[in-house]
Amino acid sequence: MGDNVNNPDASLAEAGERRIEWALRSMPVLRALGARFAETRPLDGLRIAACLHVTAETAVAVGVLRVGGAELALAASNPLSTQNDVAAALRSYGMEVHARAGVDRDTYYRHIHQALDIAPDIVLDDGCDLVNTLHTERTELLKGVTGGCEETTTGVIRLRQMAAEHALRFPVVAVNDTRTKRMFDNRYGTGQSTLDGVIRATNTLLAGRTVVIAGFGYCGRGVAERARGHGARVVVTEIDPVKALDASLQGYEVRTMAEAAPLGDLFITVTGNRDVIRAEHFIEMKDGAILANAGHFDIEIDVRALESLAEEVHLGVRPYTDEYLLPDSRRLLLLAEGRLVNLTAAEGHPAAVMDMSFSAQALAVAWLAEERVRLSPGVYDVPGEIDAEVARLKLAATGVSIDTLTPVQADYLRSWRFGS
Ligand code: NAD
Ligand code: SAH
Repeated sequence: MGDNVNNPDASLAEAGERRIEWALRSMPVLRALGARFAETRPLDGLRIAACLHVTAETAVAVGVLRVGGAELALAASNPLSTQNDVAAALRSYGMEVHARAGVDRDTYYRHIHQALDIAPDIVLDDGCDLVNTLHTERTELLKGVTGGCEETTTGVIRLRQMAAEHALRFPVVAVNDTRTKRMFDNRYGTGQSTLDGVIRATNTLLAGRTVVIAGFGYCGRGVAERARGHGARVVVTEIDPVKALDASLQGYEVRTMAEAAPLGDLFITVTGNRDVIRAEHFIEMKDGAILANAGHFDIEIDVRALESLAEEVHLGVRPYTDEYLLPDSRRLLLLAEGRLVNLTAAEGHPAAVMDMSFSAQALAVAWLAEERVRLSPGVYDVPGEIDAEVARLKLAATGVSIDTLTPVQADYLRSWRFGS
């Protein structure tokens, strides 16, 4: 059975609607773009297949695309992150939504196929699963697709690999790489919502505990800052010497995962890589150590190895918390099955942050709708003016003014003739 059935539970749709309205309050930039798109209709007649986390914030974003004239089919970009009430509300607004929380892998991909059945002109992706499915299993649709947008770091990395191998068949805009996305969503969004997920799942105290963070990129930096703010001792692991040095100069302890394994009370992976915490690390960990991932899919923590090591597994000792009992009776606690803890055990990034990411996304889609005929297949940066516009609108909405260059300053910055 598909999951685009009209949900008979009206109260679920009502709850979703309340959640969407709550998110909307903190999304002034998207509200402004919604008003603009309703007038200018930049997406008139376009069919869009989107693979995004089905959350209240996404609902606001797809609402803006719809008032801009697009017809949309939405699938989830993660099997656990769907807010069922939001999906129900979107369906009650007449939108095609293929998503349900807690689906297995086959259903997850079936939903992506169902969203693709719209025969899209433009695709929106978060992690490249939809684009991958298009290029491997739905190649008959490729001729109709004239452009796409990618929301996250891992997706952009994959797209660049596809482009390098000349496998990518249409232009894709790397929304993740805008400053208004990476600096705020990846850093402050992941920083706050990851700890929110860990705390909701375990109610653990962070003060005085050792938190090991694997990866000191945009996300890792955000998580480290917030963990430190809670009074934790923060240990960072890295493979990039510059990032490791940066972490060290910011006062974090930098160690290898082998060194950190026996020290940590809580481990958080945010690398975009696989097998970052493995069997050799699990066997060194303390009784009660908590394992969470906020980076990539469920392979940053080697969950299969943990299952093989464990003598018993106690599923659901608390919501989103499974206990793995090792042969010597030590217990390791895995959150959200090793999937994104912030979008599973919590509600993902706050709306005020997604306001910027999704505004950049909406403006990128409008730009793509204009420019796609002139673009050849490849990965494109979002035009700098879009970044600046999102930041300007956000500042205006929050009542913050900034200086402007005087003509003399502008001239000075353009010229090489001035000496010291
Ligand atoms: P980034 O490239 O800025 O940072 C990743 C860091 O991990 C790099 O510094 C890299 O050197 C390091 N790294 C790679 N392999 C490692 C290993 N084996 N051990 C230790 N460190 C390692 O990327 P980012 O923007 O911080 O994103 C990280 C991941 O988080 C990506 O998969 C991205 O898609 C995902 N992401 C998740 C959320 C969320 O809501 N949970 C939000 C944004 C991005
Ligand atoms: N789809 C993959 C890849 C990473 S998801 C997976 O689920 O494993 C990371 C992305 O989720 C981020 O780039 C961020 O923009 C997005 N995200 C975070 N909070 C969100 C929210 N409240 N609503 C919608 N998307 C959100």
